[in-house]
Amino acid sequence: MSFEVLDKDLAARIGRLKTRRGVIETPYLFPVVNPFDTTITAKDIEALGFSAVITNVLHVKRGVKELGIKDVHDFLGFSGPIMTDSGAYQLLVYGHVDLTPSEVIELQENYGSDIAVFLDYPTGNIAWKEALKRVEETVKRAHDLMTKRRDTSILWVGPIQGAPYKDLVELCAKKMSRMNFDVYALGSPTQIMESYRYDLLFDIIYTAKRFLPLSKPLHLFGAGHPMMLSLAVALGCDLFDSASYILYAKEGRYMTPQGTYKLSELDFFPCSCPVCSKLSPRDLASMSSLEKTRHLALHNLFALKSELNNIKQAIREGLLWELVTQRCRSHPRLYSALRRIKGASKFLESLDPSTKAMISGIFFYDSLDLYRPEVVRHVKKLTSNCWKNYAGGVIMLLPRTSSDGGKCCKLFMRLLLDKIEDLLKEGLNLRIAFYGYPFCLVPLELENVYPLSQYEAPCEPDSLTKKLVSSMLAQVLMKLKPRAIVLYNVRSFWRGLIESSCKKSCKEVLTLDTAEPFKDLSDVEKLVYLVKQLL
Ligand SMILES: [Zn+2]
Repeated sequence: MSFEVLDKDLAARIGRLKTRRGVIETPYLFPVVNPFDTTITAKDIEALGFSAVITNVLHVKRGVKELGIKDVHDFLGFSGPIMTDSGAYQLLVYGHVDLTPSEVIELQENYGSDIAVFLDYPTGNIAWKEALKRVEETVKRAHDLMTKRRDTSILWVGPIQGAPYKDLVELCAKKMSRMNFDVYALGSPTQIMESYRYDLLFDIIYTAKRFLPLSKPLHLFGAGHPMMLSLAVALGCDLFDSASYILYAKEGRYMTPQGTYKLSELDFFPCSCPVCSKLSPRDLASMSSLEKTRHLALHNLFALKSELNNIKQAIREGLLWELVTQRCRSHPRLYSALRRIKGASKFLESLDPSTKAMISGIFFYDSLDLYRPEVVRHVKKLTSNCWKNYAGGVIMLLPRTSSDGGKCCKLFMRLLLDKIEDLLKEGLNLRIAFYGYPFCLVPLELENVYPLSQYEAPCEPDSLTKKLVSSMLAQVLMKLKPRAIVLYNVRSFWRGLIESSCKKSCKEVLTLDTAEPFKDLSDVEKLVYLVKQLL
């Protein structure tokens, strides 16, 4: 196997992709190198800590013809792994490319490419029928490659075309997954990203990922902005390539994980890379065009590298969700993609490891956080195997927020458990659970299981969040089918919602309200009295 997974979080992985020229640690972004433009060379990129680069096979062809090159590593002056793209992007932009599929295979095999892409047929903004033809042609060329390739030490990439049509992406992913590619790659996202359709990008990554083998890395072609990398990684993209660092720099644009600035808009640099710590925006503005581009490009590369490190650290800590939700709030279009996570929550939960090396508790903010794997997994357990033989019992529901674990609550609970012990001995089917945001219902016996109490959340959730939690609670209670519910202190902000969730699942709901829960110990007697009413 050329790909080994070391850590997981959501659908993201930290992995090791073994090439014949060394290992690439993923998630990784291959900076695009143009050997005919020396503003930024492969040596500059290597000095910044990038271990692999990508160049276009058309450059290789020109190098062979005009300069007599024998190996792409000598040509670029780079000894690490080199990926070569197929010229398909030129096909997408200009409608033609001066290469045949066979020529592309030969060029990559003969001139030292370590990771190679055959000449696929990108879809882009065309009618569905034409896009289908291109998907079929891409699949046909993939089959041709399998019979024509001679060098098995090269990692071959299988591009998935069909975007923006989800059904075609699914069709292509299914067909390509039957062929044994070392890496799969999602094609044609550039136009989608240029128009900021991150919601569409979310859909096509999610579609492709579900139908591709999880044991292989997934590359996203042409994606290179620090603002969107964490979302793509969370959905399962392992590799990226982009010329954005230099293209942005040529237009005087400065990348940050929160978005892009024009150099002219900046009075201060929000970064401490070697460029930004030595120079001010004014210094850069006064430089020659070439020098300015070079410095901006170096900063942009730093911004990409640094964001990849942020992502890897978040995966290791099991806190990628936090990073993704922060980054997606840096642009409204990214936020609309983030909202798609609701539909992908079961998929993400299935890939997310249930035990993680969490260093700190997790933070919950609003309704979107109800779709993070920890909550989805908890609700799944509640509605499947937890309290399996519970139908027909009594549930005592107590309020739960992150601030309830104080001394008075502990004393109250000890007293309550003492008082009901006798009732339990008499064979009463009574369970105690807490209701609240984010886990909707936490049985007392699971209270200290990670992460059911190791989290922070707002004291009062917003109204949409409250509605969703109440409907999740109703769903859980309907599965548990209790005979009766004793409800303690439906706090002012839950009033109506929790009661109606309880009433959906059983006819008998007895409530005890109090100004401050767990403060007045006489409430224990009143709760026990309510339970006895049900005997
Ligand atoms: Zn910088």
